[in-house]
Amino acid sequence: QDTHKFRLFDVMKWAQAKYQQCLLESPDSQAARKYLGERHLAGASVRQFGLGFAPLDGEWLVKQAQADQVPPELLVEVGLIAARDEARGYYDRFRDRVMFPIRDAQGRAVGFGGRIMPDSPYAARGPKYYNSPETLLFKKQEQLYGIDMARHAGSSAGFLAVVEGYTDVMMAHQSGIANVVATMGTALNARHVAQLVRHVRKIVLVFDADDGGNTGVDRALEIFVSQDVELAVATLPEGLDPADLLAQDGGAEVFRKALGDAVDALDFKLNQLFAKAEHGTVDGVRRMLDIILGIIALAPPVPSQSAQLKQELILTRLAQRLGVELRSVRGRLK
Ligand code: ATP
Ligand code: MN
Ligand code: MN
Ligand code: MN
Repeated sequence: QDTHKFRLFDVMKWAQAKYQQCLLESPDSQAARKYLGERHLAGASVRQFGLGFAPLDGEWLVKQAQADQVPPELLVEVGLIAARDEARGYYDRFRDRVMFPIRDAQGRAVGFGGRIMPDSPYAARGPKYYNSPETLLFKKQEQLYGIDMARHAGSSAGFLAVVEGYTDVMMAHQSGIANVVATMGTALNARHVAQLVRHVRKIVLVFDADDGGNTGVDRALEIFVSQDVELAVATLPEGLDPADLLAQDGGAEVFRKALGDAVDALDFKLNQLFAKAEHGTVDGVRRMLDIILGIIALAPPVPSQSAQLKQELILTRLAQRLGVELRSVRGRLK
């Protein structure tokens, strides 16, 4: 089983090198190189993160594998090619996409995220990003993009920032902010947190300041309640994600300040609810209380002493901010 896994790691390494060589050297990748330049991604970061390019040609990787005598079955297993019907050969699953290798904490490529070229003929038909499917190596729900590059910086900074996307992580590194990882669009979950707490006691969530942003706060709060970790939420200028912000002049300072000003997650949620008004009314306060208690009640029970103490502290703060007696808050939670 382990030998097989090592073979798959080797195949991923081979594919990563092929895609990278294609991006850096092939005439077919000129548009991709231009695109990355326009996005302010420096050549050094592109190399550091091992970016590559999968050409439009539907059998490019298949042919590379033939030439290098890489068994196609292994490429099928890691989700890079697929078999055509009736044994009529294979086709590439990633086409006309910038390839972001997703690496584990030891720096081994376990999957890929592929971003479609903006003017691709496939752009209208497929999703903007396409990921490797779940494989023996790749479990999307557990993976943190950039963890191999960020863990040491996290330990020294005392916290890790969690952003949404690949380019956010890269632009942060490029701007000298290395304690940043991405969940790749999924909400922060308990398995992510389990990995993060190996390196830090504090997590700062950075959501895109767009329509999709902020949706993970409730899920993250649930985890925070039951885990021995501090959680804060940073807010970016309206309409931007970290990569957009960091591409602007002075963006790095704004991003750093946003991380420094991050608000404790419970307060962040309360601020959100207060902003929706009606907190002056009795019904409004009760509704807010129920929303937060609903999140706390959903949290997986951890019978440790520190988790109980933490819940007690959260309830106390909740009572204070809502102007309700602690006794009533406890009663309502039950
Ligand atoms: P870009 O700046 O290249 O447009 P982004 O990183 O800002 O991309 P978002 O739409 O903000 O993209 O999504 C955040 C992250 O969620 C992406 O980086 C990617 O990891 C993941 N993601 C987005 N759309 C998809 C999708 N259709 N399938 C899988 N993952 C996705
Ligand atoms: Mn977004
Ligand atoms: Mn984004
Ligand atoms: Mn973006």
